[in-house]
Amino acid sequence: MPLSLNEFAASVAWRKDDSHRALPPQQAIAHAEASLPVSLPDTGIGLDRVKQHILGDLVPAFNGPALSSNYYGFVTGGTTDAALFADWLVSGYDQNAQVHAPKETVAGSVDSAALRLLQQLLCIDEGDFPGRTFTTGATASNTLGLALGREFCVAEAGRRRSPPVDASVAQLGVVPACLRAGVRKIQVLTTLPHSSLSKAASIIGLGTNAVALLPLSAEEPWRFDLAALEHKLGASDGAASIIAISAGEVNTGRFATSREEMIRIRALADEHGAWIHVDGAFGLQARMLLPSPAFHAILDGVASIELADSLTGDGHKLLNVPYDCGFFFTRHLELQQSVFQNGAVPMPDVSDIPSAHNLGIENSRRLRALPVYATLLAYGRVWHRALMERQIALARAVAAWLRASAAYELLPTADLSLVYVVVLFRARDKALNARLVPRLNASGVMYVSGTQWGGAPATRIAVSTWRVDVERDSARAIKELEGAARQDK
Ligand SMILES: *Cc1c(COP(=O)(O)O)cnc(C)c1O
Repeated sequence: MPLSLNEFAASVAWRKDDSHRALPPQQAIAHAEASLPVSLPDTGIGLDRVKQHILGDLVPAFNGPALSSNYYGFVTGGTTDAALFADWLVSGYDQNAQVHAPKETVAGSVDSAALRLLQQLLCIDEGDFPGRTFTTGATASNTLGLALGREFCVAEAGRRRSPPVDASVAQLGVVPACLRAGVRKIQVLTTLPHSSLSKAASIIGLGTNAVALLPLSAEEPWRFDLAALEHKLGASDGAASIIAISAGEVNTGRFATSREEMIRIRALADEHGAWIHVDGAFGLQARMLLPSPAFHAILDGVASIELADSLTGDGHKLLNVPYDCGFFFTRHLELQQSVFQNGAVPMPDVSDIPSAHNLGIENSRRLRALPVYATLLAYGRVWHRALMERQIALARAVAAWLRASAAYELLPTADLSLVYVVVLFRARDKALNARLVPRLNASGVMYVSGTQWGGAPATRIAVSTWRVDVERDSARAIKELEGAARQDK
């Protein structure tokens, strides 16, 4: 056996320590920077010295999303022991999971099994979403979603002409296909999208200008305005449309739609030949919660999103598998295989598991599925659900403290029942607010990230690690928040 279970246990013992800082000391980063070689050695220094160098010089300068339970920057997640174990084997065995070759390796079947288990965890019907693939992250998944949306909405415009015409962007290119279909522009209608949506629009040739922000409601400035959406879809301006829904929104963690709204959006999309893409990078996980008054608002925000044509999810965030791992689901497997077809004459599939090289960008890729597979099997549905509940409980404990404190203001509203895993806030004192993020991060105990909300700086706490302990971590976070406010006096 190349790696025994005992060897593995010893090799993760260092991860048990819970005193890790969220950020390394500045001197450690300076030391590591100074240790980086400027030129390639003709003769290598050998594996032992490389190990010493990496462990002694570089590792102390790494930040702590995987090791600290108070690392709240972005939505990073950590790494479970099961996922880490699997990830080492992925590198050790270097499986290329792209071509499904069932007589040569079980890798393709593992890939498929992991995706199905994931769909079960997230209550996504396997039969309704046969197009499923791992990606490098939510950015890549959003790119796949917009690429399929572009293919669909232009072809649909062509089908609706009289007489109907075939207009495939994948085959003809954006400009000829649009000309043939009578499409003058492709628009991505959305509210408060993640920055990667614009990048996706740029990559696939729609342009960042295609991303059209719909007006937001004054009371709930993260929600889809259905009247505005209907107006945009109905305008006779020759536009073909992709509707992109943020479930949840990165700054607030709030959800753009409700159960009823999704049903209406689906009807509008069908009427106007539009595609619906849901970016659920960290929101899809909310679907595993059980109905309860405490989670009513959150569950309503992710209800009916299975009516979408395509869904983005992230593994390296709340699922706590290591970077990088995202996933993508679509109802339209054949469309996916035509847009991502590899080669003029694609290699025929040899089993009922479609080869991944016709489902996404890469022709070669690591077996990203194995850490997902390992984590889902090791801990199961109930553990994952309990983790989600702990993450929400921690976010709400900190939010409740902020709401009651004189120094801080909870954003975007004071309603705790809407808080998912992200807490947005600012200091009431302007001067303190301007310096709040570096001040909160100065001790290295906790790490938060800064953003803008309502035209002013705001701070975000995003709870995403499996290490969450509600009492311990909220006490630590509150101590840091109190300290930052006190220093200002
Ligand atoms: C993080 C995030 C992304 C980008 O995800 P990556 O995995 O970093 O590519 C996209 N959308 C949302 C809502 C996110 O939270």
